[in-house]
Amino acid sequence: MIIVMKTDATPEQEKAVIRHIEQMGFKAHVIEGEERNVIGAVGHEKKKMDLMVLTTHAGVEAVIPISKPYKLASRELHRQASVIEIVPGLAIGGDKFVVMAGPCSVESREQIVATARSVKESGAQVLRGGAYKPRTSPYDFQGLAEEGLKLLEIARKDTGLPLITEVMSQRDVERVEASADILQVGARNVQNFALLKELGRVSKPILLKRGLSTTIKEWLMSAEYILSEGNTRVILCERGIRTFETATRNTLDLSAVPVLREQTHLPVVIDPSHGTGVRNYVPAMAMAAVAVGADGLLIEVHPNPEQALSDGAQSLTLEMFAAMMEKIKPLVTLMGKSL
Ligand code: PEP
Ligand code: MN
Repeated sequence: MIIVMKTDATPEQEKAVIRHIEQMGFKAHVIEGEERNVIGAVGHEKKKMDLMVLTTHAGVEAVIPISKPYKLASRELHRQASVIEIVPGLAIGGDKFVVMAGPCSVESREQIVATARSVKESGAQVLRGGAYKPRTSPYDFQGLAEEGLKLLEIARKDTGLPLITEVMSQRDVERVEASADILQVGARNVQNFALLKELGRVSKPILLKRGLSTTIKEWLMSAEYILSEGNTRVILCERGIRTFETATRNTLDLSAVPVLREQTHLPVVIDPSHGTGVRNYVPAMAMAAVAVGADGLLIEVHPNPEQALSDGAQSLTLEMFAAMMEKIKPLVTLMGKSL
């Protein structure tokens, strides 16, 4: 339920409402607005109408049900698009556009540092690199794990770029949280609810990828798992879904962006690398992502894609990434955003 406070409600009145919500066994989430605050009361769906009693509180304007099954993720509760701070001085959402770039996997110190320097020079604001890799075959390169995280930290120190890296298992959350600035949940883990709940309790933002066969509604329900545990910094990432088409690795669902804009306040990033699986198709889809109103991009870049230990076919060379950035910059401005 949404508890809409009056514009002149006092902090004491708000506290009394929160106390009452909690006494009834619901969780209260305050959303501060420019004119008034609203409080989201979430908990058991069957008991939600009990919350109508809150209309009797001083300071309450209205109590309105949220029609969607996801509550904290929904636009109904949070009308304003969320602007999420990644690190001090860098935010995503609203009029900010953020490009995260780097190799699929961290392979060596030379590889990650050279990539970090180059993508920074081209305008990327975040360095990506996988240390724990979800590979289809157990015989493929699985990532450098802890060693990969240390190499990422070296690249951050060298360039100042914040880091995004994937966390695959609940077991590794604490360790990855200690190194990363954003924790990535991969497509295959989008419905690993135990992992999502754990990530709801970390202090860093989470980038939640869409699953290979996840509907937008299911994806937002997954985001709700993180939000409901108290972590409000969730970024969604469309990375292509599985269809009958084989010319591309996945089918990049750019129509998810306007749908999500309507349904949720959370920022949306596009990953055209996994979305297409083909290096030559990445720049065009990156431009389309800007044009459709995405809040950022996640791009795989490698100094020598032919030698990459994972996803070489879809990784841009350093030069291709630089050229892509030059192409998207005017489009980002045209969309009223800034890099
Ligand atoms: C990745 O970002 O390298 C990755 C494994 O992505 P996804 O989970 O989208 O397949
Ligand atoms: Mn990859």
